[in-house]
Amino acid sequence: MNVTLARKLVRERSAGLCEVKSPWCEGRATNWSHRLAQGQGGLWAPSNGLDVCGMGNATGCHGYLHQHPTRAEAEGWLVPPGQTDPIDVPTRIHTITLGHALVFLDDDGCLSTVRGAA
Ligand SMILES: [Zn+2]
Repeated sequence: MNVTLARKLVRERSAGLCEVKSPWCEGRATNWSHRLAQGQGGLWAPSNGLDVCGMGNATGCHGYLHQHPTRAEAEGWLVPPGQTDPIDVPTRIHTITLGHALVFLDDDGCLSTVRGAA
């Protein structure tokens, strides 16, 4: 998948609102965050991207998740290298309809809640 389509699908999924909504959240999504880093083989695919606020490693949720890697991995915001494909790793994100929910992300820009998860 190309970068443009991946970004479009993730932006549609998020409705322009930050999907991580950490304690540092600024609200509006401005950045793509790779769950599995590009340098570790992470693809431009909706299952591997989160629409987040902030910039890089510094501010907002993008900064928060990189500065709190243990929590970020526990929440599925970051996927460690050498594990399974991000499409198989659930992540806790925030949506208008679900609030914070544990979901699987697919490559069509959709998500499905993990059965039994709060
Ligand atoms: Zn945020």
